[in-house]
Amino acid sequence: MPFFENIQNLLNQEITAENESKEMTVLVRILSIVDAVVCLLYAFFFPSRGIWAILFFAFFAALNIAVLFATYRLRSVVTTTMHCLILALFIVVFCLLYDDNKLGLRFSLFTLIPLVYYRVDMKRWLQVLISTSCCILSVVLGLMALFRGPRIFLNTSLMVFSVILNTIAITFKLVIISLYYYRKFAAGESKIVAYSKKLEQLAGADALTGLNNRRSMEDHLNMMAEKYPTQNEPFSICICDIDFFKKVNDTYGHDAGDFILKRLATIFKMFMADKGTAARWGGEEFLLVFDRMNGDDVFVELSNLKRQIEKTEFQYKTQTIKITLTFGLEEYDFYAGIQETIAHADEKLYQGKNQGRNCVVY
Ligand code: GH3
Ligand code: MG
Ligand code: MG
Repeated sequence: MPFFENIQNLLNQEITAENESKEMTVLVRILSIVDAVVCLLYAFFFPSRGIWAILFFAFFAALNIAVLFATYRLRSVVTTTMHCLILALFIVVFCLLYDDNKLGLRFSLFTLIPLVYYRVDMKRWLQVLISTSCCILSVVLGLMALFRGPRIFLNTSLMVFSVILNTIAITFKLVIISLYYYRKFAAGESKIVAYSKKLEQLAGADALTGLNNRRSMEDHLNMMAEKYPTQNEPFSICICDIDFFKKVNDTYGHDAGDFILKRLATIFKMFMADKGTAARWGGEEFLLVFDRMNGDDVFVELSNLKRQIEKTEFQYKTQTIKITLTFGLEEYDFYAGIQETIAHADEKLYQGKNQGRNCVVY
């Protein structure tokens, strides 16, 4: 609805001062509007109390509207202070005039306490001072009303009106402030969850290639070793190493070497997407784990991958670089365990290097 959208836009409009808490500003805007409406309703229903009563309420309504406009220009610390002072002043004058013991307006002072604690940048001693002042002021006003009696007597219907209006206004303001607390808490909570997920991801990822790092692959392999023998399904492990990579670095530079490692990681990710997991095991060594695949099947797949890589032209700046890899493959041996299976795959890699490289040894 356009009316509510306009109000929402008005409330959420940015403040011109820099480095300002927008939530605090919007909160002060809402509370000032509520107080202005309360004053206007009093002005509307209190004409029987004379022109001074109307002027008194209209004056405070105007002050609250002034705070609302001030929030578009002044810092929120200033407008929050203005809001607190105007509310306190209104309550004091109202209570002195109309005996607030029965009407409950002085309890509106307590809405200032969560409001000032919402400001994380406010000094703690100032928050304590404001809370204590609210408490003392409320006690003094209550006692004065008890022992002094009202200046101006209200008829029953005005008292009923005041009790209802004050109670609704206080409840509404507390609900609004609570909602802001909830939103702040929920926003913080979801940020923490996202951040810890990111940290978890980073802890298990290799910084250069984004593949799993050695530590997370070791965790994964231990999990596989626990899971698979009970299901009686095979899985296979392959260690592969770039051939003469030192020469690539020496010829094209270290950055070109890094570029190759990243591109190779992308190829491994795509190749392993439906087969299992890839990790950067060491400098230019990778470890591939094939879920539910025996050595024979993996041998065929790796032979295809080997051919694909030897045909790939890695374009780094103006250079076209070609590389090959040597693969050592071993099917997981339940009796030998993970470490020994990896050692066997490593031996086969070494064998492949001795046989002239660019091959899959199984
Ligand atoms: P081989 O075929 O026997 O494996 O020969 P090689 O040259 O690949 O093996 P060697 O172990 O002699 O050299 C490995 C090279 O890998 C040396 C090192 O500088 C390079 N390397 C390791 N990690 C990185 C890296 O993160 N970035 C780059 N650019 N080079 C790396
Ligand atoms: Mg190498
Ligand atoms: Mg190596």
